[in-house]
Amino acid sequence: NLTLNKKYPILFQNNYNIIEQIGDGAFSVVFKAIDLASLNSSNIEPSTNNNPNDYKNKLHDNNFVAIKIINKSQLNSNQKSLILKEVSILKKLNHKNIVKFRNFLQDVNYFYIIQELCHGGEIFNQIVNLTYLSEDLSRHVILQIAEALNYLHNEIGIVHRDIKPENLLFNLIPYTRSECQHLRKSDDPKVKKDEGLFKYGYGGGTIGIVKLADFGLSKQIWELKTKTPCGTVGYVAPEIVKDEKYSKKVDLWALGCVLYTLLCGFPPFYDDKIDVLTVKISKGEFEFLSPWWDEISNGAKNCVKNLLSVNPKQRYDIKQFFSDPWIEEYLLKLPKDS
Ligand code: ADP
Ligand code: MG
Repeated sequence: NLTLNKKYPILFQNNYNIIEQIGDGAFSVVFKAIDLASLNSSNIEPSTNNNPNDYKNKLHDNNFVAIKIINKSQLNSNQKSLILKEVSILKKLNHKNIVKFRNFLQDVNYFYIIQELCHGGEIFNQIVNLTYLSEDLSRHVILQIAEALNYLHNEIGIVHRDIKPENLLFNLIPYTRSECQHLRKSDDPKVKKDEGLFKYGYGGGTIGIVKLADFGLSKQIWELKTKTPCGTVGYVAPEIVKDEKYSKKVDLWALGCVLYTLLCGFPPFYDDKIDVLTVKISKGEFEFLSPWWDEISNGAKNCVKNLLSVNPKQRYDIKQFFSDPWIEEYLLKLPKDS
């Protein structure tokens, strides 16, 4: 994309060739790009005129990157230093369910955070496309987010604070029949709808590897704007809404909101008016609405309830989440050493 490569010359100088825009937020734009330096190790001849079409089907998933570009002019010096601090955290993270950091660049006008590209896009779009997920696929997704949280909370010691379907991305990887027997065998008729994250055929298929994205910047946006949740949907824990001191448990609240949404297709707390939404969240007022929740198991509901407990002390921590009976039931179905 010539115009974009001209607008951000530092990217082209560093061997990144922008293809298209894939996301945007209040403070950033995200582009898909080819990492030209990676072509060498993949034994792909670089195209003479840098036209991605020239590579035809030769490119592998890891020849692509996602580049998040943040406009410096919207940030004060304190916010800029926070971004640099966040980048230093990002560099340290190494987990299969967290989007991999690849590089960081800056020029006078922009910061550039270069990450592994998640080809599947947002889990959010999967929910929009499929209406909702089966219990098994919901567990497949939520467990991977929980793995990422376990790593962040217990190995790194940080709180994400912005867990929501827009920040949950995925990649599709091939799998063999035996690896996904537990999902294939599900007699849940909804499994047929789970095509985006899980496809199967005779020889095998593809399955979604969920990746947690969007670190740090979210926190600054939070402090920068008012203390109201961004966007239309409230995934924010009551103690944040009530402005109390908060902790790792806010991520488990958000995990509960995501799980609820995966299972039925709409969020547990919703209102057009932000003050009404705030009251609902602070009281933990949600329902398992009929008819959408009629067919969903009590085990699933119980797990959601324990995550959406207003009192953070009573709310599951990550260890308790892993030993929830509905989660354990799924873990037992998984093939050994996966
Ligand atoms: P913001 O702080 O603006 O929310 P995000 O990091 O969440 O920034 O990126 C915005 C959107 O861009 C995401 O919701 C997603 O759709 C897309 N995106 C971001 N990173 C990636 C990535 N590594 N792979 C694929 N899409 C991405
Ligand atoms: Mg985001």
